[in-house]
Amino acid sequence: MSVPGNSDHNTKEAAATPPSSGIAMADDGVNPGSSRVDALILSVNNIEVVYNHVILVLKGVSLEVPRGKIVALLGANGAGKTTTLKAISNLLHSERGEVTKGAILFDGDEVHSLSPNELVRRGCIQVMEGRRCFGHLTIEENLLTGAFTRREGAAVIRRDLELVYEYLPRLRERRGAMAGYTSGGEQQMCAVGRALMSRPKMILLDEPSMGLAPQIVEEIFDIVKNLNAKENVSFLLAEQNTNMALKYANYGYILENGRVVMDGKAKALAENEDVKEFYLGIAEGKRKSFRNVKHYKRRKRWLA
Ligand code: ATP
Repeated sequence: MSVPGNSDHNTKEAAATPPSSGIAMADDGVNPGSSRVDALILSVNNIEVVYNHVILVLKGVSLEVPRGKIVALLGANGAGKTTTLKAISNLLHSERGEVTKGAILFDGDEVHSLSPNELVRRGCIQVMEGRRCFGHLTIEENLLTGAFTRREGAAVIRRDLELVYEYLPRLRERRGAMAGYTSGGEQQMCAVGRALMSRPKMILLDEPSMGLAPQIVEEIFDIVKNLNAKENVSFLLAEQNTNMALKYANYGYILENGRVVMDGKAKALAENEDVKEFYLGIAEGKRKSFRNVKHYKRRKRWLA
């Protein structure tokens, strides 16, 4: 995916480009000898999403998640992050949304031929924005709902519950508490734990940092990193907290107005001047769109 003369990151008119090619992540662990289907757990190819038959929200989004990696999907409010995640987990229908173009492959299978249930069974689960725990159930009952799609016996489910408590010890302490009375951080942990109970290969995590204190956000991201490293769970992480997401992710995509405007290795993105200026607030001046910036446009023309 490297662009001559611009190896740090890529800018592109996403609608016009084919899917990213291989993310050039060999140095991040993808075996260059393995086939692309083996190397990628998720591939989103040039998708368009329309709500209510008329509102075009995603305009040719392409992205990839290599197996066992953490990929960040970054962007401001309304950029289309949640819509992208819902398209992947096939949850758009309930919102009167549909994928009108392009294709999404999870672990080699077209997600549109699979129900959300089946996707969960195959290892792709979404943790919704805002946690959405069942407030009137205890933490442990919430966790057990996560095993709903599984057909193994109680002993196996019990063992996995123990594993969840190992990774999220705070949940063990609070196992008997009504979820609705626990803190925001505990509810976020509960939502991640519940997802883990489905034995996922990949978790689509929507804005885990939302409404949480910085220390708790760090704790949540540490848990993500730990699960990724030890359980080999891949993550697609939709976040507005660019700084935190890029610290933990291997690779990142930046969405604006339903298009991918930039992608690159997390380290390169974090060091990129435009990203620093517009998403990390490091440069001076007010927040602007990438599209309004002359040098950014020049660079895009050069790449076209
Ligand atoms: P946020 O962080 O605020 O959730 P986001 O990047 O996740 O932002 P989306 O929630 O995907 O963005 O929204 C992208 C666009 O799609 C927004 O303009 C939003 O108003 C629109 N949208 C989202 N859901 C619907 C819906 N059910 N019907 C119509 N438009 C929608």
